[in-house]
Amino acid sequence: MCVFCQIVEGKIPATKVYEDDAVIAFLDIAQTTKGHTLVVPKKHYDFFLKTPKTIMHRVMDVAQRIGQAQLQTLHAKGVNVLTNNLEAAGQTVFHFHVHVIPRYDARDKLQLEMHENEDRHDLNLPAIAQQLKTKL
Ligand code: AMP
Ligand code: ZN
Repeated sequence: MCVFCQIVEGKIPATKVYEDDAVIAFLDIAQTTKGHTLVVPKKHYDFFLKTPKTIMHRVMDVAQRIGQAQLQTLHAKGVNVLTNNLEAAGQTVFHFHVHVIPRYDARDKLQLEMHENEDRHDLNLPAIAQQLKTKL
């Protein structure tokens, strides 16, 4: 049984922030910033891209509420909401979860940087869009 399923079943402890029939949220042990929270469906799905829409929507609804609470109660200046899909994207626990990470200042332990791709001018954007559209 995966670590988050064990938390759902109460077999290992977690500091819970929220719970309903389908979703729980608890503080991430890493506490990347103060209040870093994970929102998790009670039923096991490996990652966001494999989660049924109704459950995914329930999880995102709670993630939004937690982000709002972080702004209001922890006085965060911003919030990052992110979910890693598969190892190449940094996923380490293969039970869908959304990170809700309050941000305070430039010394936060989360560094998210999106740089311009040096090869971007060689990319055929209409062709890439066309590829994606075939599966949407
Ligand atoms: P990810 O890399 O997106 O799969 O993130 C997994 C997250 O789960 C990490 O930020 C860990 O710190 C967190 N984590 C792992 N085990 C536990 C646990 N027992 N309680 C709370 N958070 C955990
Ligand atoms: Zn699980």
